[in-house]
Amino acid sequence: MSEILDFSKFPLDSHIQAAIAEMGYVTPTPIQVQAIPVVLAGQDVMGAAQTGTGKTAGYGLPALQRILPKANTSMSPARHPVRVLILAPTRELAVQVNESLVKYASKTPLRVGVVYGGVDIKPQADMLRRGVEVLTATPGRLLDHHEGGSVNLSQVEIVILDEADRMLDMGFLPDISRILNLLPKKRQNLMFSATFSPEVKKLAGNFLRNPVLVEVARENATADTVEQIVYQVHDSEKTDVLIDILKGDGENGGPIKQVIVFVNAKITCRRLASTLSRIGISADAIHGDKSQEERMAALEAFKKGEVEVLVATDVAARGLDIAELPVVINYDVPFGAEDYVHRIGRTGRAGAKGKAVMLATGGDSRLVTAIEELTKQKFKPAERRPLSREERRSRYESQRRDGFGEDRPRRVRKEWRDDDREGRRPVDLPKMPAPVYDPIFDAPYEPTETTAETEHNQPVQTAVRGQAQGKKKGRVAALLGGLLRK
Ligand code: AMP
Repeated sequence: MSEILDFSKFPLDSHIQAAIAEMGYVTPTPIQVQAIPVVLAGQDVMGAAQTGTGKTAGYGLPALQRILPKANTSMSPARHPVRVLILAPTRELAVQVNESLVKYASKTPLRVGVVYGGVDIKPQADMLRRGVEVLTATPGRLLDHHEGGSVNLSQVEIVILDEADRMLDMGFLPDISRILNLLPKKRQNLMFSATFSPEVKKLAGNFLRNPVLVEVARENATADTVEQIVYQVHDSEKTDVLIDILKGDGENGGPIKQVIVFVNAKITCRRLASTLSRIGISADAIHGDKSQEERMAALEAFKKGEVEVLVATDVAARGLDIAELPVVINYDVPFGAEDYVHRIGRTGRAGAKGKAVMLATGGDSRLVTAIEELTKQKFKPAERRPLSREERRSRYESQRRDGFGEDRPRRVRKEWRDDDREGRRPVDLPKMPAPVYDPIFDAPYEPTETTAETEHNQPVQTAVRGQAQGKKKGRVAALLGGLLRK
């Protein structure tokens, strides 16, 4: 295939081209170069791509193009049946996909909408009854709408399973099967997945007809644009090391400004965010127990820079669209090696440089090996201990000279004893000269969380899953080769 260097070379309608130009897209990403012509040709696609590769435009632009001849400005709902259906595992991903599609279709009469659970169903039902040609949905809520009679899926021409691996992980297979049975037999099927477990391959085998494989070179995507660092830490020192990283591993030795910290358990998520907040780092937590509104509000505050650190579990963070995040931190080594790929996919997007830091304790070695096998690399973990009191003080002084942190509140100074970690208590030091404020010294000590509770409340099962993945030879291309040869 000859190299396509700009979007104008694709046979896309001028209204779609204008929308792309308005969004500032000039050069198509590799997945777009591969996927757009194949989808335009009406073929089924198996896409090996994670979020951040530009896959939404890769399937969205040609899908819009294919149904554009039927676009119309009639007020009649019957003239606006669902023609393109996108299934996404989470509300966040559904919202994000829809936002992109709304923009891509903004200069056409096509109606674009989204439905997901956890919010009032009625406004969504009203939207569906008015008619919408491009619908993004989470599976459960779509079935609710179907049962309630607010959506008819008999005109669907193109169906897209986005983040298929995660949908299976989340137990959506029965819902997906039910939905596929509601669609016309003759249709175009697209499926995107970051990883290829036997279950994903089985679904692909049942769902796709002679699919064309489109794949981005993941080795390059991770090795070239994301610097991956692993620190070997003591269990009891994880939180202190994390705080050191947040406060001093940013640009020019300053604090890190926008970062997602991934954890394995809801309880860790809550406690870590509150610990960080207490020492003056603006942090919020997103996890499965938070309502949709709370999660969206946290995400918005983070995007605006009002919150600097978002502590997140995998399920809650799935599909978050935060472009060019400079750093992600794995506070916990993920139970599933594939989650590592998803987590670090939040940084180094669209060619931007990113950094992925992971804190690994002695007990994590099997999980780390599983990640190394899946991502075909060998980490060189460096031991990292928390800074001493003197080191913290001197870092804070030099940051102050460099103009970092000038807006920090000044509080009554307390000191911590460093000699007894468990028993650290504030001790008032009344006669010290020139107060130096460091929020670290000013917070009650909170022991590091152990992962007792996972997002699914099934720690043992999940851990076993992670180990099983470790045995797998991880090369996506090889797996896909197997899939497509079968
Ligand atoms: P996605 O992988 O679809 O979630 O896209 C990741 C991010 O890249 C989104 O913010 C898109 O708007 C953006 N994006 C997608 N394609 C391009 C492109 N060709 N040029 C610049 N940005 C893009």
